[in-house]
Amino acid sequence: MKNFLRTAYQSDHALEVIFSSLRWFFLVISISVFTIQYVENPNQLKLNLFLSLVIFGFLYMGISDYYLHKSPEGSKMYTIMTKGGPGFDLIAFSALVPLTGGVESPLLPLAYLIILHVAVYWRFIGGIITAILFILIYSIIFFIQVSDVYSLYSFMIYCSQVFFLILIGGLGGIIVSRERNHHSEKNLLAEAASRDYLTNLLNHRSFQEYLRKDLENGIDFYLVLTDIDKFKSINDQYGHVIGDKVLRQIGAIISSIIPEKQGEVFRYGGEEFALILYTNEHYEVNKLLVEIKQSVSNHIFYSEGKPFSVTMSFGSCKQNGEEPNILVGKVDKLLYQAKDKGRNQIVYSNVG
Ligand code: GH3
Ligand code: MG
Ligand code: MG
Repeated sequence: MKNFLRTAYQSDHALEVIFSSLRWFFLVISISVFTIQYVENPNQLKLNLFLSLVIFGFLYMGISDYYLHKSPEGSKMYTIMTKGGPGFDLIAFSALVPLTGGVESPLLPLAYLIILHVAVYWRFIGGIITAILFILIYSIIFFIQVSDVYSLYSFMIYCSQVFFLILIGGLGGIIVSRERNHHSEKNLLAEAASRDYLTNLLNHRSFQEYLRKDLENGIDFYLVLTDIDKFKSINDQYGHVIGDKVLRQIGAIISSIIPEKQGEVFRYGGEEFALILYTNEHYEVNKLLVEIKQSVSNHIFYSEGKPFSVTMSFGSCKQNGEEPNILVGKVDKLLYQAKDKGRNQIVYSNVG
């Protein structure tokens, strides 16, 4: 339960799943309320309208659930279905409430939920505008249905409903905005703390976390350490600004070669990078490392119009259930063997 709440707090997708489940729940409630009222006081016209509404609801909710679960977050259909959801809810509300008792409908508080849903995307302004729309809908229902609209009691009921709608729109909008700002700032900070400022790759701290978690979970992977050859002379010859540019470009070259799901690239420190490659196959690792080695050595860097190139050395070893430090130590030794052998080469461990 705690995990579920945390996920709902941190992810828009989880929140949408909650809203879509609530929609199914309230569809069942609406059918029950209508059935009870219909049995007491049958009315053919209302039944047809209600049935068309239910069929429309089933279709809309089925399609929207399909896109919610099947299309990637951020895709066009996903966005239309999630952000369009409150629009559907508003239409459904305007039709359902008059059919289930109007101003006495037990479904009236649904308006509060829909306002909060809008505030998730359009914050304070969205909350207030939706509250005003609901006040209009409520007013129409109220003035059509209530015969003694000018009695003090009716007036008090009307005013209190309007007051609550404005309150939820305004206050709800402010609270949701505050929470979401706070949450996105937290995400930004977490993102900044996990990335290296110069290359924007995952940093050393992230590397240690990935390594520890992957080893704990018994995930198969190869660990690779790679270091730019004679980088000190690049700094000495062209200056640190150019050295930084080389580091950034090499980071981008390596990232572009590692498929997203097959591995992670980290700036281990200085001019060293670490790669965690999620595979069991030596030939796949070899293919990727050869491609990186060649792409780096073929890349032409420029300093004041003068071209130059760099090479890299690699050490690679398959994880064998050892402690993180032992594994890093092993791969470091392989990297230094590559340096000893004359640089610009890849050294694998004998066992993998
Ligand atoms: P080797 O082939 O043995 O690796 O030689 P090397 O010159 O690359 O190795 P060494 O460890 O002697 O020098 C590494 C250099 O990397 C020294 C340091 O100034 C440079 N360096 C480390 N981090 C950065 C950085 O963020 N920016 C720049 N411009 N240089 C960096
Ligand atoms: Mg080096
Ligand atoms: Mg080094």
